[in-house]
Amino acid sequence: MKKQTASIFVLVLHLFFAYAFTFAQTAAPFEKNKREADLIELVKLDKTIKLDIRYARADNFVGRVVYPEARAFLQRPAAEALLSVHKKLKKLNLGLMIFDGYRPWTITKLFWEVTPEDKRKFVANPATGSRHNRGCAVDLSIYDLQTGKLIDMPSDFDEFTERASPDYKGGTETQTKNRDMLRKMMEAEGFTVNKNEWWHFDYKDWEKYAIYDIAFSDIKGEKPKRKNHE
Ligand SMILES: [Zn+2]
Repeated sequence: MKKQTASIFVLVLHLFFAYAFTFAQTAAPFEKNKREADLIELVKLDKTIKLDIRYARADNFVGRVVYPEARAFLQRPAAEALLSVHKKLKKLNLGLMIFDGYRPWTITKLFWEVTPEDKRKFVANPATGSRHNRGCAVDLSIYDLQTGKLIDMPSDFDEFTERASPDYKGGTETQTKNRDMLRKMMEAEGFTVNKNEWWHFDYKDWEKYAIYDIAFSDIKGEKPKRKNHE
């Protein structure tokens, strides 16, 4: 009997911690020896980098506005690498369209809570955080500089289907060619594509950065370093 009571106690304890972990995690996980955030606003690097921040509107998978401002940031080295990709695209009359960059940890927690279990491979667990929280992941596509419209891809952004995979074989020839071009150009600058999402790329130094929970309004918005002192 005593043994039974003890195992019930252990079970209750387990349930308590599981509950506490899931519902009461109110602060971003802390990691030692990480770099200070040095977030750069992408449109300040080049005005033709276009934004389509759907989390700042209601037409996203959550179904409501989750970002108070339609802005996109990345850590300085990732932002500079992204600018190189954009410059190469401009020569082809194309440009980068950004869906998301740095994401405060609180938002990752919200995404996890509202996503059904079978779709959770598309969202990060707040216990480990997202590379978006580190300011080293970017969701993006390519647009036509003349028309301002996105070029054709095998799926829409945040479409939680097999068409989202960077290895999906069922797209049209143009869709596949466009998706693979984006991947190749991003890889050349130190980014790696996510295995479930053709639009999501991680920058190589992501492990050097912490999981931040800085609100967009608290980012200093410092201008990128200039080569000359104008
Ligand atoms: Zn992403």
